[in-house]
Amino acid sequence: MSSFQKGIYVELSHNFQIIEMSAKSATIFYTPSELCKTNRLITIVKFFSLAHRIFSSHYSIVGYRNDRPAVFLDRDGTIIEDTGFVSSVEQVVPIEVAFEAVRLLNQHGFVVVVVSNQSGVARGYFDEKTVEEINEYIEKIFARRGAVIDKFYFCPHYAGGSVEKYAVDCPCRKPNTGMIERAKRELGVRPVLVIGDRESDILLGKNVGVPAVLVLTGIGARQDEKTKSLADYVASDILDGVKWFLKHFER
Ligand SMILES: [Mg+2]
Ligand SMILES: [Zn+2]
Repeated sequence: MSSFQKGIYVELSHNFQIIEMSAKSATIFYTPSELCKTNRLITIVKFFSLAHRIFSSHYSIVGYRNDRPAVFLDRDGTIIEDTGFVSSVEQVVPIEVAFEAVRLLNQHGFVVVVVSNQSGVARGYFDEKTVEEINEYIEKIFARRGAVIDKFYFCPHYAGGSVEKYAVDCPCRKPNTGMIERAKRELGVRPVLVIGDRESDILLGKNVGVPAVLVLTGIGARQDEKTKSLADYVASDILDGVKWFLKHFER
């Protein structure tokens, strides 16, 4: 093993525990740590490719394949309150049950990805950097509660926006599937579920061909009957939705 590989392994030992190892398999459990906040997902991939190399002659690793199941969560109204164009970290109010919901998904081995339309950028309310800061803040407060969000994607575009650069019809804007396609490419994941509080979230699930859960938090309760009937499940909140999913999902 080269010193470079060794370095990665030592660094990651803070975050990864091998919780079970038999002659045939190793189960690896990921725990969040303040020590490794950045590029977490990239690090996971590196770790596993390294782990593959280390163990492959003796063990096959379960719990990681190139098509790990991923759950796609909406942000505003689903994991944090929809206070209307959240434009600073001060406006971030987490939905309390979302911590447990994300923890449950972590424990069951799902990659957790947040996908969010942020048309406030195209409307000139805030810039992309602000969205990134808010997302980093959300990631941190969730990590502190033991809930790991692996990756955030957002679409700053909106055809009706006032900032010319962003006033375009974007293939990433939900219900278009661009952000999920990107996650599949970049993270090597397989989408299995979408949860959100808007029609666009439910249609996103339909467009990707995975179950879609409508939550009644955010503006979910104000969605019309058509959207509610289109959803595979109407949940009181994200925790209810995740529990429903875990009961029905088959790997
Ligand atoms: Mg929403
Ligand atoms: Zn976009």
